[in-house]
Amino acid sequence: MTILLVVLAAVYGLLIGSFLNAWAWRLAHDERITRGRSHCPACGHQIRARDNVPVLSWLLLRGRCRDCAAPIHWRYPAGEALTAALFVAVALYDGLDWVLVPHLLFVSALILVSQVDLEIRIIPDVVILPAAALGVPLMVLFGDGPWWEWLVAGAGAAGFLLLISEVYFRVRHVEGMGFGDVKLALCMGVYLGVAVVPALFLGFLGGAAVGVTLVAVRRGDGKTAIPFGPFLAAGAVVALFAGRPLIEAYLSLALGR
Ligand SMILES: [Zn+2]
Repeated sequence: MTILLVVLAAVYGLLIGSFLNAWAWRLAHDERITRGRSHCPACGHQIRARDNVPVLSWLLLRGRCRDCAAPIHWRYPAGEALTAALFVAVALYDGLDWVLVPHLLFVSALILVSQVDLEIRIIPDVVILPAAALGVPLMVLFGDGPWWEWLVAGAGAAGFLLLISEVYFRVRHVEGMGFGDVKLALCMGVYLGVAVVPALFLGFLGGAAVGVTLVAVRRGDGKTAIPFGPFLAAGAVVALFAGRPLIEAYLSLALGR
């Protein structure tokens, strides 16, 4: 049973990862998702079915278009592999439970907004707002916690990021964080509940570590905009699996319990 669940999660993860890539590309390049089959962005040739197999095709083609040899970014096969890996991890963590539905939806949304944020530094409203809205009834119905936890955590996380971006703006006089990150935090709170606290903490820690490293190797001046969305998303993934144990570990350390 578990093996079947893992195989199904891996196969669906690869297929959905491939779909998320196509969607991310079209969001980043202002194309409608409904515009038919995938085509090479460089030469416009339609992508053959055998060249559209997740991860494998990219490896066989050595990261280049079959028609024009234009390079295909490694972020695309990486996104497919990551989606499959996260689907398997969620399936193993939740088992056959209804909470699988919101959790798979959540990791899919995180991957999609991260891909778009990495490419054009925007968290698309058209993804993050419906994801947050869908999360409320799904988590109230299937989540492991009181019904209000998801609402309070969503509002609290969004409010916290809004506050941080306001303070940053007053102090540095530059936009440190986009409003997109506030909406991403809202979505994270809805799906994570109280576990959004360690998620935000880990996101800020990761973002700060990379920011400081970039300044140290002189690739940034401290004001270089690095997309913050993927850091928040990574924090969210860790917290999805380890959020509650992290909170308990912190409380027992802080309070000596
Ligand atoms: Zn091409």
